[in-house]
Formats: sequence, structure tokens, C-alpha cells
Amino acid sequence: MAIRKIIKGGDPILNKKSRVVEKFDDRLAQLLDDMIQTMHAAKGCGLAAVQVGVLKRAVVVDTGDGVVELINPEIIDKKGVQREQEGCLSFPGEYGVCIRPAVVKLRAQNRRGQWCFYKAEGLKARAFCHEVDHLDGVVFKDRWIKAL
Ligand code: ZN
Repeated sequence: MAIRKIIKGGDPILNKKSRVVEKFDDRLAQLLDDMIQTMHAAKGCGLAAVQVGVLKRAVVVDTGDGVVELINPEIIDKKGVQREQEGCLSFPGEYGVCIRPAVVKLRAQNRRGQWCFYKAEGLKARAFCHEVDHLDGVVFKDRWIKAL
């Protein structure tokens, strides 16, 4: 495992769309292990592969109740609205209010390629939406309604 360098705002790679993961191999496992270590070292609650310079549809989230690995995630349902403060490891020290669904349902593959289903609310729902946005080249500053 290794801590990777987190790409900061202003780098055009953060606006690129990530590619679908097709190979569930040791290289993917290594990437996920490194992303988890990098996220924890930076005290973040989510990290997308693009933030370490890899344009693959893979994210890791840990909102305090364990790591979730989402490969090729798709939001399949959303309900309600929440307006809360967000930050991003690629934009240290910057915070803004984003509008997100209150509850999301999502499907994603795990590191072995099996499809899994998730339901999240509150902080975890925000983290899922924030990270899925990264895979489409969208950063939270594109969505914030107020800078803090
Ligand atoms: Zn982010």
C-alpha cells in the first residue's frame, strides 16, 4: 500500500470523465488499497480515482462506519433534499453549501466485480453523490450554491 499524491483544483484532469472499469484484477485492488490509505491519511471521507490521477470509475468512501468501495457506481434512486456544507480533498480549505438528495440508492461493483446495492442518507448520501460527480468530471464547486 502507498499514499498517492492528491491532485488539486485547477488541474484539468479533474474535469475529465472517467472510464468504466472492466478488469477486476490485482492492479485494481492495488489502486483501491492505495486510495483507502490516501483518503485516511488526508482525513477525508471520500476519494475518487481521478483525484489520484487515474481515470477509472472507482471511488472509496468512509463516513466513519467502515470503508465502502464503489466500482462503476450508478445512482438508481434519490429522494428528498439536503443543503449541507461540503469540502473536497482536491480543494483544501475550501467549503461551500451543496444541494444533494437526502437519500440515495446506488448500485456498484465491488473489487471482485460483483454488483452490490447501497442505500445512504445524510453525510454518506452526500459523499456518494460527491464522489460519483468526480467520475463525470464534476467538482463540488460546480454545484455549490454558497461559498463558506
Ligand atoms: Zn471531492
